[in-house]
Amino acid sequence: MPAETAPAKATTADTGKILVVDDHEDNIEVLRVRLEHWGYETTSARSGNEALEMVRREPPDLILLDVMMPEVSGIDVAREIKGDKSLPFIPIIMQTALDSTENKVEGLEAGADDYITKPIDFAELRARVRSMLRIKRLQETLEERERELLEFNERLRYMSQTDALTGLDNRRHLNDRIEEMFAHAQRLKEPFAVVMCDLDKFKSVNDTHGHQAGDEVLKQFAAILKDEAREIDRVGRYGGEEFMVLLPGATLKTAGRFADRVRKRIEGHTFTFPGGTLQRTASFGVSGWPHELVEDCDSLVRTADDALYVAKETGRNRVIEFDSDEFNAHHVHDGSDAPVATGSNGGAAAR
Ligand code: GH3
Ligand code: MG
Ligand code: MG
Repeated sequence: MPAETAPAKATTADTGKILVVDDHEDNIEVLRVRLEHWGYETTSARSGNEALEMVRREPPDLILLDVMMPEVSGIDVAREIKGDKSLPFIPIIMQTALDSTENKVEGLEAGADDYITKPIDFAELRARVRSMLRIKRLQETLEERERELLEFNERLRYMSQTDALTGLDNRRHLNDRIEEMFAHAQRLKEPFAVVMCDLDKFKSVNDTHGHQAGDEVLKQFAAILKDEAREIDRVGRYGGEEFMVLLPGATLKTAGRFADRVRKRIEGHTFTFPGGTLQRTASFGVSGWPHELVEDCDSLVRTADDALYVAKETGRNRVIEFDSDEFNAHHVHDGSDAPVATGSNGGAAAR
């Protein structure tokens, strides 16, 4: 083997799988021996079609491609490979005749990345192979970075929309969703309901069993809500131990039945935490559109919150629907458009 100038130090440009494509077995052999001596893995194809098949089965890191082949020429192979978006970036070095400028131009236009003239100068071939593999590695690094960035962005998006303890939508995301869903309901003239729920005497869970037990109760409460909700509903944590469910397509009555199902389940549920178990109940306020007093998201949420307040006031472990007889019996209008729960200055703030 004649000595060529060895690369300064072995890098990733000195490894890789190279596909040698040539219709002459002898040419393939000469190149294979040389490439393998330099440390590359090789495979070979005797025709354009065979090369395409091999590339699609298992893309190599680089292709050393003869231009002059019968049937499918090297130019066609290059064009096919570079046009196939499902393939990764595979550098192609064309082997052309020394005097064939036309071939070189055509090959480069077809997508070849570099060319080398026959008879092949092996020192030059090695330098070109290394340079192409360096580009390939760079490309791979860039793609990897891009994937990482996309994943990172996806993770950021998830974190900014999700409550870390329960995995439910957080309040900010709920507010975005309710705007969207309410607008959608109005467009389609479909009903839309909101259920607000709040665990009863939850503070005593923390006080008696500790904050960790409290967290466990919140998680289990969230899981029950999620389980009772339909796929299209949004379940979120509105605040400390207050949750909100958005029910597209549901009337006030349907949402009331949903809330009562959840209420019964909570009532019958034994919450478990390290070191003990406990029972808890929850109260629910329900509101829905269309309703003459519900003209926007704010009033939808406020009326559900007012109903929740009445549920708390009238004994807890209850579902109260906005504008029901029971609601109205415990609720007075303050003269403004917005109804206000008796003895309250606006629902949530009072709790
Ligand atoms: P009510 O029946 O009127 O709703 O009474 P309550 O005790 O449930 O309501 P209150 O608003 O007085 O207390 C809520 C408690 O929830 C106080 C707060 O420490 C607790 N809390 C809020 N967020 C969390 C949390 O993430 N983890 C735990 N463990 N407790 C929380
Ligand atoms: Mg509570
Ligand atoms: Mg509360």
